[in-house]
Amino acid sequence: MAVRNYIPETLEEALTLRMNEHAVPLAGGSDIMVQHRKGMGIAPDLDKPVMIISNLQELKGISRRDDGYIEIRALETPASIAASELVPWHVRQAASRMGAIALRNVATIGGNIGNASPKGDLPQPLILLDAEVVLVSLTSERRMLLDQFILGSKKTALADDEIIKSVLIPEKEFTHLFYRKIGTRRANAISKLSLSAAAVVRDGIIEDFRASSGAAGPKVIRSREAESLLTKRQISEIPEIADDFIAAWDRAISPHAMPVYRRNTTSRMLLHFLEALQDEERSGIIE
Ligand SMILES: Cc1cc2nc3c(=O)[nH]c(=O)nc-3n(C[C@H](O)[C@H](O)[C@H](O)COP(=O)(O)OP(=O)(O)OC[C@H]3O[C@@H](n4cnc5c(N)ncnc54)[C@H](O)[C@@H]3O)c2cc1C
Repeated sequence: MAVRNYIPETLEEALTLRMNEHAVPLAGGSDIMVQHRKGMGIAPDLDKPVMIISNLQELKGISRRDDGYIEIRALETPASIAASELVPWHVRQAASRMGAIALRNVATIGGNIGNASPKGDLPQPLILLDAEVVLVSLTSERRMLLDQFILGSKKTALADDEIIKSVLIPEKEFTHLFYRKIGTRRANAISKLSLSAAAVVRDGIIEDFRASSGAAGPKVIRSREAESLLTKRQISEIPEIADDFIAAWDRAISPHAMPVYRRNTTSRMLLHFLEALQDEERSGIIE
């Protein structure tokens, strides 16, 4: 029997389709179309109905909320995210390096999160920043940390009557910022490894320290154990903490391919960031 496909015009219509038929959302289609490819010019077929959600105005927009969060709705593209001054620096960096320009205009943040690939570029800085996802169904709306929503490679906590509505990022100022994506080419390369780090250093004390790593395990990695070794410590103590910090990171990551390369490169980037924290003259974006 042929599977039916839909183009809902409102979020309510989409949520009704989600509830009654568990229709699969298709936003930019840049993951779904590739995963279910049948050949040139042949539409992919899935065993469930598909709904093209790209018309839904309720899922568009980037705004600053009164409660201290930046809200990015699910249909926003890497191009619009990279161009928005409201969006925190790490997320703009990741968005501006996703694929080539055509992809950056068609892919969506909802799709990048919904796909939950360990190599997806946006979850990594979002998890660094303690971002949450807003999930809606016809009968409910719930929020959860993105780190908890992504369960593992290609696995999320999305219920089959829900849609990702938006991502909420708590606004926070950092004194030191770092982002690297390592791919085979600058454009159109899937991450081999990515790392974000951020810190707040005041009067020689590390008030906040965090780092997150992409493509180094089944999901984005943050090591709370490693972070707690540095938080509330003096920058002068970094040399004696560095080895334990790197060892804690090494325990947290589990790269399935090229483990030696990924572990060494991650350690080098983290040590580079720690060096910058110790230099009172250096702050802002660490190159
Ligand atoms: C040539 C090429 C290069 C690429 N390069 C990169 C890259 O550099 N970095 C990177 O991270 N990715 C890359 N990708 C992968 C892909 O483009 C991204 O993951 C993109 O963000 C997916 O968004 P989309 O809207 O196209 O997703 P879709 O294909 O529409 O959907 C992906 C998944 O998310 C679900 N979904 C979509 N929207 C929602 C929603 N609102 N609520 C619930 N579920 C939803 C879908 O049902 C599906 O399971 C690349 C892909 C291609 C083809």
